[in-house]
Amino acid sequence: MQTPVLKYLQGYPLDVLQQVSHMQQQDKLGTWLTNKYAQTHSVRTDRALHDYVQELKKEHLRGADPLSKVAFDSKLHVVKNALGTHTSISRVQGSQLKSKREIRVASLFKDTPAEFLKMIVVHELAHLREREHDKAFYKLCTYMEPAYHQLEFEVRVYLTHLESGAHRLWSSGFDAAKKD
Ligand SMILES: [Zn+2]
Repeated sequence: MQTPVLKYLQGYPLDVLQQVSHMQQQDKLGTWLTNKYAQTHSVRTDRALHDYVQELKKEHLRGADPLSKVAFDSKLHVVKNALGTHTSISRVQGSQLKSKREIRVASLFKDTPAEFLKMIVVHELAHLREREHDKAFYKLCTYMEPAYHQLEFEVRVYLTHLESGAHRLWSSGFDAAKKD
């Protein structure tokens, strides 16, 4: 049997890829995801995202470089393995080399379950300490979120689902925001 080409799931075992591909052909990925997660979170603004990120950082990564900016980014496409972006700009301030850190999260994650937002934020926070996607990096991710690997897989399944032209599964917090 051919290896299905699922660009967001590269590196996963063949049997997993075949299963996802089969479900995609039967248009079942959406239901699989919505059965697991019924609701979106309420982190809707850059301000709210900033607070959310800082809270997690304070809890797990005290002492990591400070973040100069945290924002949703509507131009950020979730491709090329960039689940989010993390940039580090080094500047000389006086005699010190200071590093300026930013975390940007694709706007897509405004309308996802809380678990997906957490996964993406944990991923980007882990990059404050670990640059590469190596063992140390994933260890840090699972320390911050024990279900990290499962969640990253589900996020990738969601991206696979969207790529086939399907609608977003969880919609907008617009109503949810009004309720608050
Ligand atoms: Zn990364």
